[in-house]
This record gives sequence, C-alpha cells and structure tokens, in this order.
Amino acid sequence: MIDPALVAERFGTPAFVYDLDRVRAARTDLATALPEEFEIFYAVKANPHPDILRELRSVPGKATRAEISSTGELEAALAGGFAGADILYTGPGKTAGEIAEALSAGVRLFSVESLGDLRRIGATAASAGVIAHCLLRINSATSSASTSIRMTGTPSQFGFDSETIPEISDEILSVPATKIDGAHFYSLSNARDEESLVAELLHTIDCAATLQSQLGIAFELLDIGGGFAAPYASIGERPLYSNLGAALRSALDANFGGWREGAPKIAVESGRYLVGDSGDLVTTVVNLKDSRGKRFVVADAGINTFGGMSGLGRLLPVAVRPREDGRPADQKASLVGPLCTPGDMLGRDIALPALEPDDVVVVPNAGAYGPTASLLMFLGRPAPVEIVVRGGEVLGATRLRHTRENVRAIENSALPTEVGASA
Ligand SMILES: *Cc1c(COP(=O)(O)O)cnc(C)c1O
Repeated sequence: MIDPALVAERFGTPAFVYDLDRVRAARTDLATALPEEFEIFYAVKANPHPDILRELRSVPGKATRAEISSTGELEAALAGGFAGADILYTGPGKTAGEIAEALSAGVRLFSVESLGDLRRIGATAASAGVIAHCLLRINSATSSASTSIRMTGTPSQFGFDSETIPEISDEILSVPATKIDGAHFYSLSNARDEESLVAELLHTIDCAATLQSQLGIAFELLDIGGGFAAPYASIGERPLYSNLGAALRSALDANFGGWREGAPKIAVESGRYLVGDSGDLVTTVVNLKDSRGKRFVVADAGINTFGGMSGLGRLLPVAVRPREDGRPADQKASLVGPLCTPGDMLGRDIALPALEPDDVVVVPNAGAYGPTASLLMFLGRPAPVEIVVRGGEVLGATRLRHTRENVRAIENSALPTEVGASA
C-alpha cells in the first residue's frame, strides 16, 4: 500500500487507491478454488474502473468474462478490453434501446428475467437480424442455506419462479430470434462461510438439473451464480475456499455428466471477491464534534463517496486501518461525512484511534461497491480521486466529473411545441 499521507498530499482526499496486484491475486485465488473448466463472470457493478477491467481481462488462463446490466456498464466493459462475445447482459428492466445497443456491440448472451423480457429481447434481435442466446434466470422456490442477502424463494422482480416453468416452457422455447442456452441462478451474495456457500451452490446445481429436464433441452451454459465473500470496509482477509472445488465437481458429475467436456459449460459470477480487497479509501478528518456525550469524527468522505447504502439504512461494518504509529483504536465515536443529512454516517459508535483534524485515515477493503454504490451527485461535492497502483507504483489518477460542465443538451426539436407549453 502507498503511504496514505503521501496520497493525501499529492492527490487530495477522499481518494480510492486500487492495487492491481491484489486484483490479480483475487482472480487467481478464485480460479484456483474452482474446477479449472469453470468460467468466471466479473460483475462490473462492483467496480467498472477501466484499469481494473483490463487487469481482470489479462490474467492468464481462462479469460474472465463480464456481467453487465446497463449501457454504461457495456461502455465500461468494452473500454476495459472485453469483446461483446465475452459479455452477459442481465437485469429485470432491459429496454429495447439498451438491448439493441448491446446487440450492435456484439453482445449475444442475455439473462432473461420474465416472458416479457424474453419477448422484447427476441423482437429486438429479430430487427437486428440476429439470434439472442438466453439464460433463464431462475428464482428457485426452495433454498438450502440461510444466507446473508437472499434473492430467491420469495416474490421478486428477478427471474422466473421455478414452479411456473413446466406450464410456460413451450412459450419460453418458441420465442422467435431467441435460443435458450441454459440457466442463470444468483441466489446468494457475500456468503457467511464456506459451508453456506457450498450448500447453496450444490442446491442450485440440483435445481438446474430439474429445470433442464422440465424444459427438455440440453443446456449449453449453466451460470450457478456466486456468493463469494470479501470483507467490506472492515479489517479482514478474503476467504480461500479449500473444499469448494471438490464439492462442485462431484455435484456436477452426478447431475451434468458432460460438464467436464463443456456440455454444459459452467460459470460463476463475482464482484466483491475479485476487487474488494484491492481498494483502500483514504479520507481526511475535517472536524471533531462532541454532542451530548457522543463524539463525531467528521471526515471528507461520506455517503457521496462510499457506503451510499448507509444512507438507505444499511450501515457498513466500517473500520479504520490501525495506524502505523500504533495508536490503538480505543475510542468510541461515529465516523460521519460532510453532507447535510444525518444519513451521512459511515460508522455509528465504532472503535477509532484518537484522531485530530487533518489526520489521514484509511478504510480498508473498499475496492468493491465504492463509487458505484454511492450518492455521487448528492450535494455536489467533487467525486473522489481514483488512483491505480501496481507494485507500489502509481500508474494513474483520475476523477469522475458529474457537474453541469458535463451536461449535454438532448435534441428535442422533434417534440410538439404543446409539450413545452403545457408543462
Ligand atoms: C451484484 C451481482 C453479482 C455480484 O455480487 P458480489 O456479491 O459482488 O459477488 C453477481 N451476479 C449478479 C446477477 C449480480 O446482480
């Protein structure tokens, strides 16, 4: 890690520092934990920085593919060196315009969330004169493990309810300009431990085998999702999954006999595992404030920079990395940001070292869901600096712009003038 005080001095704060060596190590660790035949999709929403995408793309071995769900992520993936053919397009609200843009960039693989979604993909592919390959996203009626963020088993905008498949399979299989290549499950994020992760993925493989026989087709691609964990804004290490590979191999042997020969190909997805520990957030203490017996440490990074979810009531387990000078984290205080909302709280009553204004502190494991999961526009502060390092060397520093300077007028001369008049 680059010295945070130097980062602050040279680039200002708040700043994210992304270490490409750590991205590479995480990608290698995940591939090592999985059967070598597996494909890995990187969930671009975790961090679409082009250098991170390029790094993931360039790790030797089976090429990393990209999982995206917007045209902004499409642009990021293409800029990061992914080809359309490497991309899986997901999401419950794909518009015809987005689908057309993806198709024209060479994307051919879509995760399909409903019949309406499938028909729109088909109609758009037909207009483009191509076939869209589709994975049916499945919202399984059952679950195995009790998990952290469950996305299946309950009513959801994501995926087909698994119990409805037998009655609609004919409709699913007859949509023009589409081909059902297989299934996509994503039932778990940030698994609590290896046991829950393994249990959920084995359960998914079981469900997928049932689904394949209900549909009466041979899957070409089965994306079993993910759930690979990483510490988030707290001190800790990525888990290494030592039992996962063997468990997956035997479950696949039992259910999908040809998988080792690529029939079907098996894929997983990950965002946080691949990039979470590559990032540090460097922030500067601006003010200290005592109020009715509680201490507030006001930093220059708030939910506009990191942990925007905490503004929505989900507080991160924020910790500050122990300082080099050995000051222990023995004070209780709330770490808050500079925004004019009480929701701008990174950590409530957490353990912090004794801090003074101008002290530079580091929130570790902030490489995933940093800027992308934050309220960047709220209150108009500058976006954080993003610094990319490798081997202890700074490769570059950038800052996203989100001010009026960047506004482009949208051509509206085609609108009837009454629209303006009545508005
Ligand atoms: C967000 C998302 C992921 C990545 O989740 P992580 O917890 O970051 O690994 C993977 N797949 C889908 C469909 C997602 O929506």
